[in-house]
Amino acid sequence: MRIVALAGGIGGARFLRGLRQVEPGAEVTAVVNTGDDITLHGLRVCPDLDTVMYTLGGGISAERGWGREDETFVVKEELAAYGVGPAWFGLGDRDLATHLVRTQMLDAGYPLSQVTTALCDRWQPGVRLLPMTDDRVETHVVADVPARDGRPAGRQALHFQEWWIRYGAKLPAERIVGVEAEKSTPAPGVLEAIAEADVVLLPPSNPVVSIGTILAIPGIREALRSARAPVVGVSPIIGGAPVRGMADACLAAVGVEVSAEAVGRHYGARRGPDGTGSEAADGLLDAWLVDCRDEGATVPGVEVVSRDLLMPDLPSAAALAGAALEVARALR
Ligand code: GDP
Ligand code: CA
Repeated sequence: MRIVALAGGIGGARFLRGLRQVEPGAEVTAVVNTGDDITLHGLRVCPDLDTVMYTLGGGISAERGWGREDETFVVKEELAAYGVGPAWFGLGDRDLATHLVRTQMLDAGYPLSQVTTALCDRWQPGVRLLPMTDDRVETHVVADVPARDGRPAGRQALHFQEWWIRYGAKLPAERIVGVEAEKSTPAPGVLEAIAEADVVLLPPSNPVVSIGTILAIPGIREALRSARAPVVGVSPIIGGAPVRGMADACLAAVGVEVSAEAVGRHYGARRGPDGTGSEAADGLLDAWLVDCRDEGATVPGVEVVSRDLLMPDLPSAAALAGAALEVARALR
């Protein structure tokens, strides 16, 4: 069975780890958000790709959910002693090696997709990791920013990471933009994988800055809409709140209520009420998994199924991935 999943960082990674456990024979392609990528100290950092790679490769910090286990931050401390920031970004010593290898390969002319394959030679994640694009697309957030680093206060576009980490997503976002997304193209293999998939899954990743950013790459949304495979999504919102992180602040920026039902409606139905790809529908989903606490949620044109959506450990993540596959099989 060929499965394609779109993924951000933590929510995507945990779901994928469950998927690999429950369906070990499947050929899984993860199309990963790179809108969070940032250049620091001349190094290209790809937080979501690394979270997925370390999680599936057994190197993730179980406690933090990002970065490496047994991490130290000596280089960061030494940079701080020189007065060199940013202080708000946690760049670990072990993690730095990944960014050094990646940057060296990018500088030598390899596209990010090939660099990712090379990094995965070490980590053996057991799924094929593809960046959404080889082009540089970065998420920026337009917000009223207080005076900082010698810059006056005012409405500015911040890199997503600065908005998310430095300001804890607390500056109300006026807009969230995938800079250069409209000029980008999907990485090699992305559209083919979606077209050839037997099942397409939207794990419980951030609907705006993870899945939303991937969908902003021209061609990917259309590929999902025309895929022969059923598309099944899993809600990252349970009982009116994100399970982890600040997805509520992102949903506010796009005018979507923080509920499993509203996120399902935001993705929308792939088929019209008559079951065909009629004009009436321009969404993505055939089925939407909500938590048992959100039972009764409805999304027109979409089969809504309630299950336990929490993934505190591997067995629960495997059960959730299994539930998504079971719903997909029933649709096929
Ligand atoms: P990020 O890039 O690290 O922020 O990770 P993702 O975008 O992949 O996932 C973030 C989303 O995962 C958040 O909105 C969380 O609500 C969601 N999430 C985290 N843990 C769980 C879980 O156990 N169950 C569900 N359903 N969602 C989760
Ligand atoms: Ca992310």
